Amino acid sequence: TTQIKLRDCAKTFTDGTRALAPFDLTIEGGETIVLLGPSGCGKTTILRMIAGLEFPDKGGVITFDGDDVTHQSIEKRRVGMVFQSYALFPNMTVAQNVAYGLKVHGVSREESDARVKAMLEMMHIEMLADRAIDQLSGGQRQRVALARAIAVQPRVLLLDEPLTALDAKLRVRLRTEINALLRKLGITAVYVTHDQEEAMALGDRIVVMQKGEIAQIGTPREIYCKPQNPFVADFVGAANLLDGQMRDGRLHIGNHVFDAVDAFDPRHGAIIDQGPVELFFRADGLSTCDAAHAHFTGRVEAVSYLGERLRLTVSGIGMHAVMIDTHADDIITAGADVHCQINPDRLTVFPAR
Ligand code: ADP
Ligand code: MG
Repeated sequence: TTQIKLRDCAKTFTDGTRALAPFDLTIEGGETIVLLGPSGCGKTTILRMIAGLEFPDKGGVITFDGDDVTHQSIEKRRVGMVFQSYALFPNMTVAQNVAYGLKVHGVSREESDARVKAMLEMMHIEMLADRAIDQLSGGQRQRVALARAIAVQPRVLLLDEPLTALDAKLRVRLRTEINALLRKLGITAVYVTHDQEEAMALGDRIVVMQKGEIAQIGTPREIYCKPQNPFVADFVGAANLLDGQMRDGRLHIGNHVFDAVDAFDPRHGAIIDQGPVELFFRADGLSTCDAAHAHFTGRVEAVSYLGERLRLTVSGIGMHAVMIDTHADDIITAGADVHCQINPDRLTVFPAR
């Protein structure tokens, strides 16, 4: 398996568009890295730089297992690619599509036949071998595209929003299969998506991107539970963000004062003692309690039954309504007042934006 390093890679297009600020990224051998961020943040550009379809600005270096590939073409790098649009050859059968790369690489007919068969079996489409591409569903086409990409035994597999064009149910099913496939092959993979759920499900680590910069790199758990800034907090899962004030090291939210909460500025690596802050928590950052223990009392605006829990939308705490999860068997209806307690270890305090 191949380790990929990008050092000081930036990208400015010839028309002057600055797609990527200089960044470093190391992808370990066999690791699945997900590039996650809104449209236009530079995900595809990074993928194309790894593929050799785009080159970093002067000074940028890309290595595969320590070998400098910065100026190498896509053919030399031996990467497999899968795109959102299937990019299959419409005038060839499924088997011919999968065999195409093998032919280009000079694999013998005999071995090619065997490998095509194995790939189609792996993707559960062996019965479609002789089908024309235009007789396939979107999900089947993407299976063919995957089979074709891995047939050449690439050093790295690059996937650019491969499931975006499919309907929700199929997306979840194929994502589970891709996950299993990547584990089985043990191949280094870079997967681009704007869907946080997909990113959490697939990534060993997630690279969250914002406007051409890396906002955070971490495991799904780190990204979800310990976001380094409000952008990451908000982009990855449902987030509550409240305005507060730090005064002499104590957190003030409305009339309440909290002692045991540290406000940390990750940009400067410093504790914030004074000044406006943004308080972040997920739906488990507040819990319902009796009036005597309440930090806040709010009004329930809506109740959603999520199976294993209830999610309340509560107003009257901060400027916006907040989400609070509670037990599925609690009986709470819209319009009721609820008392809530803050869970200090579930809070993160950022400097105000
Ligand atoms: P993403 O995949 O995250 O949606 P891209 O990497 O495709 O983002 O694009 C990043 C930025 O670079 C966008 O602003 C996009 O318009 C711009 N861009 C991409 N390709 C080119 C190009 N060939 N020429 C000029 N600008 C480009
Ligand atoms: Mg893209």
